[in-house]
Amino acid sequence: MQAKSARIVVVGAGQAGAALVAKLRALGHDGPLTLIGAEPDLPYQRPPLSKAYLKGELERERLHLRPASFYAENGITVETGRAVAAIDRAAKAVVLADGTRLAYDLLALTTGATPRRLPAAIGGDLDGVLVMRQLADADALAARLAAGAARALVVGGGYVGLEAAAVLREKGLTVTLIESAPRILARVAAPATADFFRALHERHGVEILEGAALARLTGAAGHVTGAELGDGRRIAADLVLVGIGVAPDTGLAEAAGLAVENGIRVDALGSTSDPAIFAAGDCASFPHDAARIRIESVPHAIDQAEAVAAAMLGGTEPYTARPWFWSDQYDVKLQIAGLNTGWERTVTRPGAREGSLSVWYFAGTRLLAVDAMNDPRAYMSGKRWIEAGRSPEADRIADPAADLKTLA
Ligand SMILES: Cc1cc2nc3c(=O)[nH]c(=O)nc-3n(C[C@H](O)[C@H](O)[C@H](O)COP(=O)(O)OP(=O)(O)OC[C@H]3O[C@@H](n4cnc5c(N)ncnc54)[C@H](O)[C@@H]3O)c2cc1C
Repeated sequence: MQAKSARIVVVGAGQAGAALVAKLRALGHDGPLTLIGAEPDLPYQRPPLSKAYLKGELERERLHLRPASFYAENGITVETGRAVAAIDRAAKAVVLADGTRLAYDLLALTTGATPRRLPAAIGGDLDGVLVMRQLADADALAARLAAGAARALVVGGGYVGLEAAAVLREKGLTVTLIESAPRILARVAAPATADFFRALHERHGVEILEGAALARLTGAAGHVTGAELGDGRRIAADLVLVGIGVAPDTGLAEAAGLAVENGIRVDALGSTSDPAIFAAGDCASFPHDAARIRIESVPHAIDQAEAVAAAMLGGTEPYTARPWFWSDQYDVKLQIAGLNTGWERTVTRPGAREGSLSVWYFAGTRLLAVDAMNDPRAYMSGKRWIEAGRSPEADRIADPAADLKTLA
C-alpha cells in the first residue's frame, strides 16, 4: 500500500491536528483522511483565549484556524464533538466513545494537554473555580464577568495566569495572583524576566503574592468565596482562575501500550513505539540535542505536525525544533527565542523604546535563549544567532552602546 493513499486518522482537532491534515493534502496524500476532535468547534487557536478573545476584541469565528470550506474542498472529514475512547492496535482501528470503529493504516495522535486542577478536597470543585484551556473555558469566564464578578484570584504565576490577570485587571476587577514558588515564572524564566512582569502587574494594580501556599479555597452554598493561605491569610474572590500548568494528554496512548515519557514518546520523525502511529504537539516528547523534551507552543505544534505529515508519507527528514513563543500582557509584547533549559547566567539589555528590555540566557559562553519585552530587534537578533548556533559575548550584549547588528 502506498502511503500517499493510506487511510489516515488524526485524533485531536487542535493546532497540531489541523496543521497535520493540511500538510498531508499539500504533500499529495489522496487517501481517506479523518480528523477527530472532542471539542464542538472546528480547530481554533488557543493563544487569544487568555488575550484578545477574553478582552472581547476578537470574534469567535476569527479563532478558527480554517473555515469549514477548507476541509470540505480538501476532502478532509472533520468529526467534531466526538472523543476517541480507545485505540485497537491489533485491528488498526480507533474506537469512538459511542462505540463507532474507524479503521486506519496510519494514525496520528495530536491530543494536546489537559490543565491541572486543584483537588476537590481543597475546594477545587467549587462553582466559580475555572481553568483556561478551551473556548468553553474562556466563555465560562466571560459569563462570570458579565454576571458581575468583581474580585478575581489567579492561582499560578505562569504565562497563562499572568495574561488572564492582565485582562481581568483591564476589565476593572480586583485581582490577586498567588504563586507557591518563591517567584512568578519560576519554571520558565529567569529572575530578571520575572522582575519585569511583577513590576508591570503591580503598576497596573494586581496584587502578586509569591511563595504563597494555598491551604484551601473557601466556599458558601457551593460557590467559591475566596482562599486561605498556609500562613492563615485570607483572600476574598468571586472567581478563581487556576493556571498551574498542564499535563500532556497521553491517556489513549498509555492505554494502547505506547511508550510514554513526559508525553507520548516519539523519535525524530514523530513515530511512536508503534510504527503505524505518530504523535505531535503538546502531547509528544521528542529528542532534542542530547535530551528528550516536550514543548507547549503554537509554532512547535505546527512545525512538528508538518514534519510528521512528511514522515507519514515516507519522508526521512528529522524534525529540528526552532523554539519561539510569545505572550501579551497590557501593552507589553514578550517574544522568546530558543530554550533556556540549563542556563547558568543571564545578562539584560535595555531596548530602544522606553521600558523595553531583553534578557539573554547563557550556558557557559553559549547563547541559549532570549526574552525580549517590547524589543523586536533583540528578539530577531537572538533568534537568528540561536538558530545559526552563534553566540555573541554576553558582556557585549549587555552593553547598551554596542549595536546588535555588529555583534556575533
Ligand atoms: C490560554 C492559552 C494561551 C496560550 N498562549 C500561547 C501563546 O501566546 N503562544 C504560544 O505559542 N502558545 C500558547 N499557548 C499554547 C498553545 O495553544 C498550545 O501549545 C497548542 O495549542 C498545542 O497544540 P496541540 O494541537 O498540540 O494541542 P491542542 O491545541 O490542545 O489540541 C488538542 C485537541 O485534541 C483534543 N483531544 C484530546 N483527546 C482527544 C480524544 N481522545 N479524542 C478526540 N479529541 C481529543 C482536545 O480536545 C483538543 O481539542 C496557549 C495555550 C493556552 C491554553
